[in-house]
Amino acid sequence: MSSPLPPKRIAVLTSGGDAQGMNAALRAIVRTAIERGCEIFAIYEGYQGMVDGGDRIRPMNWDSVGGILHKGGTVIGTARSDDFRTREGRLKAAQNLLDHHIDNLIIIGGDGSLTGANIFRQEWPSLVAELAEKGIITKEIAESHPHLVIVGLVGSIDNDFYGTDMTIGADSALHRITEAVDAITSTAASHQRTFVIKVMGRNCGYLALYGALATGADWVLIPEAPPDVDNWQQVMVERLNAGRKAGRRDSIVIIAEGARDKYGNYIGSSDVQKVLEEALGEEVRVTMLGHVQRGGAPSAFDRNLGTLMGYAAVETVLTAKPDDEPVVMGFKGNRINKTPLIECVEKTRAVAEAIAAKDYERAMELRTSSFKDAFRTLKVMVRALPHTPEPGQSRYRLAVLNAGAPAPGMNTAVRAAVRLGADKGHTILGICNGFQGFADGEINEMNWMSVNGWASIRGSALGTSRRVPAGSDLYALARAIEKNNIQALLVIGGWPAYEAAYKLFTERKNFTAFDIPTVCLPASINNNLPGSELSIGADTALNSIAEAVDKIKQSAVASRRVFVVEVMGHYCGYLTLMSGLATGAERVYLHEEGVTIRDLTHDVEKLVNGFKSGKRLGLMIRNEYANPVYTTPFMRDLFEEEAHDLFDVRQAILGHLQQGGDPSPFDRIQATRYARLCLDFLIEACNKGDTPNAFIGLESGQIRFHDMLDFPRMIDEVRQRPKQQWWLDLRPIAKLLAQPGPTGAVA
Ligand code: ADP
Repeated sequence: MSSPLPPKRIAVLTSGGDAQGMNAALRAIVRTAIERGCEIFAIYEGYQGMVDGGDRIRPMNWDSVGGILHKGGTVIGTARSDDFRTREGRLKAAQNLLDHHIDNLIIIGGDGSLTGANIFRQEWPSLVAELAEKGIITKEIAESHPHLVIVGLVGSIDNDFYGTDMTIGADSALHRITEAVDAITSTAASHQRTFVIKVMGRNCGYLALYGALATGADWVLIPEAPPDVDNWQQVMVERLNAGRKAGRRDSIVIIAEGARDKYGNYIGSSDVQKVLEEALGEEVRVTMLGHVQRGGAPSAFDRNLGTLMGYAAVETVLTAKPDDEPVVMGFKGNRINKTPLIECVEKTRAVAEAIAAKDYERAMELRTSSFKDAFRTLKVMVRALPHTPEPGQSRYRLAVLNAGAPAPGMNTAVRAAVRLGADKGHTILGICNGFQGFADGEINEMNWMSVNGWASIRGSALGTSRRVPAGSDLYALARAIEKNNIQALLVIGGWPAYEAAYKLFTERKNFTAFDIPTVCLPASINNNLPGSELSIGADTALNSIAEAVDKIKQSAVASRRVFVVEVMGHYCGYLTLMSGLATGAERVYLHEEGVTIRDLTHDVEKLVNGFKSGKRLGLMIRNEYANPVYTTPFMRDLFEEEAHDLFDVRQAILGHLQQGGDPSPFDRIQATRYARLCLDFLIEACNKGDTPNAFIGLESGQIRFHDMLDFPRMIDEVRQRPKQQWWLDLRPIAKLLAQPGPTGAVA
């Protein structure tokens, strides 16, 4: 019988610029590798550590990556290494890996790091041969490690990498930018000032473009799409002046590090400052956000992105065949994907090359379609006033309302709908206080400036209500539609919004007024809407939960304590599972899985055993409706009773802080994107004379519209959630990572 194969040995390193979320990736890689029976090493200080060897290459255990999820940067250090750029350095690096019998490498870094990785892999056989020839390694060692398996994860705040919609760190950097620009906007508005804000991105305008879209900035300069006119300064000044005349109290210009004019000359923030000061005759302040963008705690999204990519990277190493091309883990359409490393590096480089060659058309062509759409949208949103409609152009009366509980991002969606609609010559009517206000006839015409500053504000400025129309409401609604000559309806909201739209749909036979194009845009922190994997507001809520749990955990540093944290979601466990993943909870309780007394007995036994062997902190996250009998206070009391003196138990019911807060950048961006698509949908239907009633959402990587006919088929009406919930597939990963280590520590 042949002897069993020795465990695979994998090394992980972080390289190049650090990025928030690298630690989450590291934690997932280490723990998944251990769980899968591998031996895992961390290489400290990037490639330099691999060249230096010694104690820079260290075996990792379960606990070595405990308590790092919420930390920015990378706990294993990163560096730029000139030695690794030389063959001699890489020979040394190969020797150090072989000393530990390592021939699988997971690299978390930017395009430079991944290019280096690819070169290293290609050279590997020759490096091994040379080491054997020189007698530095034995023939056996050389023969048993003929190939190097490489898997890459892109850690880069710039989001400048082909093959993934998001790189690890970009969302956190956007958080830093939106926080800063929101703060600057309030002081700028107070003093009627102009600010020029410089953000990172040498060859990629992602942070500048999406930062501007998310904050409602007034002008943006990005490397891929320089102003196409020679007198861009004059155009910018005219636009900003026009904005002021229209009533804006401030002007915010966002400029990417790599911004340039069409001749390739860099545009610096001081150039813009000078131009604006001279032309506007007012003080213009420059703020360089610099390394702040790299700093701070990773966003919930980056934690989960790092975690999911890390998990997938180990699975990829385990199934890799020797001659497989190296791959990079990416994220497309809300799922982890893989792309050949060489293709990623080449296409990423191609953008930089196109920019350097002043071939901006090509640079933009290489960007994703959502990037191009975002740029087109931004060009409209920054206008001082809408375009004047062409003679004979069709002009409709479109109404917009919010319904259901307030969700962060609702205002951003209304703002986009009003401006994008007005720019196409249509009249946008704002309905106050949801379907209740609709029935009461609280309807006002909105204009360009009535949504000024709405990109970042919390709650629902239009007002919302949970009322689902019934009985006499229906007559009132029909009258309101007819009286205001509403030709299409955009409903932004959660479950009650969808129910109301469905009601109008089914009542069409009785009320012809309801036979108008209608579309629902998913906005609910619960993320419980059909046909939509991510509704607006859920990302903000997730971040609020992660921040709150980080603080709750810190409060327990000196004691042995278990926290039972209750989060919202109604019967949908999305926030529970995803916040559990983002905070390292050891147990999540979902209504979808149910909770039994046997589960609780098992959990309490695990806790007791954990604390007996040195555990100091326990974190359980519970969905508000996980079980009607085993409530949060019940669980607290049960755990406390069984803990005796081993640990104490505290409950934290997070409540409405989850519905509040400034919308996250992702929610703002998604709100804008959905609003644009919904408007196009409504206008097209009006043009064709069709009267669809539909709901929009991202599903299996695509944004699509579902007919309202599908609504009952797609939902669990009693539990008010979709029948299919994509995120349930992530439960095994959350379970795997949440097991206690030898000292009982989990997070
Ligand atoms: P990033 O990975 O963030 O793009 P860099 O471009 O600085 O950062 O690359 C990080 C490190 O990766 C470099 O210091 C170097 O050690 C290694 N590296 C980059 N490019 C190459 C290359 N062409 N050959 C070998 N190593 C490289």
